[in-house]
Amino acid sequence: MSYVNMGQILKKAREERYAVGAFNILNHLTAKAVIDAAEELRSPLILQTSTATVKFHGVDGLIKQLIPMAEYASIPVAVHLDHCTDADLAKKCLDAGWSSVMFDGSKKPLDENIRLTKEIAAYAKKYNATVEGELGAIVGVEEDVIVASGDEALAKVDECKIFLEQTGIDAFAPAIGTAHGLYKGKPKINFDLFKEIEEISSCPLVVHGGTGLEGDVFKQLISLGAAKVNISTAIKIAYCSGLKSYIENNADKVEPLKLDQHVIDVVKNTTKEHILLFGSANRI
Ligand SMILES: [Zn+2]
Repeated sequence: MSYVNMGQILKKAREERYAVGAFNILNHLTAKAVIDAAEELRSPLILQTSTATVKFHGVDGLIKQLIPMAEYASIPVAVHLDHCTDADLAKKCLDAGWSSVMFDGSKKPLDENIRLTKEIAAYAKKYNATVEGELGAIVGVEEDVIVASGDEALAKVDECKIFLEQTGIDAFAPAIGTAHGLYKGKPKINFDLFKEIEEISSCPLVVHGGTGLEGDVFKQLISLGAAKVNISTAIKIAYCSGLKSYIENNADKVEPLKLDQHVIDVVKNTTKEHILLFGSANRI
């Protein structure tokens, strides 16, 4: 149907109070599984790539696989770079054809985060690409960035206002207590803070650290306006467990296509569960 940026799909999601899943793919197989799931459920989709995945395949090597898949899909698909702390890499990805990037300056002082995010947002405009920014610190481990938990990590409403006004971003990820990786204990999500930020935000909000949140937590955040939810760890788990279970049950077989199909099915089922939970099915 179309290779798109995140603008239109998130705008509609915010208005109609559902969320679009941004699934971190690792290779062609996981990208195919995620696209198959979204096509079957008639949902818009964000194919998300971590900087580690970009480095593994190479900038061109990765995007040249993904753009034809997005164009060939029967649903709108955006390709979004996740958590990029390196402004040069974000620009390289925009040059290469990503339709969307996240610049993560959240570990930097506010003025430096604003300056760099604004620079990337201006750079993205020439490609009609969208930009996501982050404020506060989403705790846990994201690639090599480790963030400790605590209230000081949460986004502050007055700073969010300034950040949004000055950067001109298209999607915003304020830290509200979610974490990357797997949760140890019950996550402390600040719903009131999320609501307050949503009400003053000029653009749709993003929830990071989606893996392991309870269904009713997602539902509450989406009802408060979360338009994009990032799912990374659940895809990694599905991929590895799919490979493992096939090999364990078929140790004497040499049938790579059956192995791939099994892995695709496992990743596809995980993706579908999330799409159904986020309410983005049948929105095309
Ligand atoms: Zn994240």
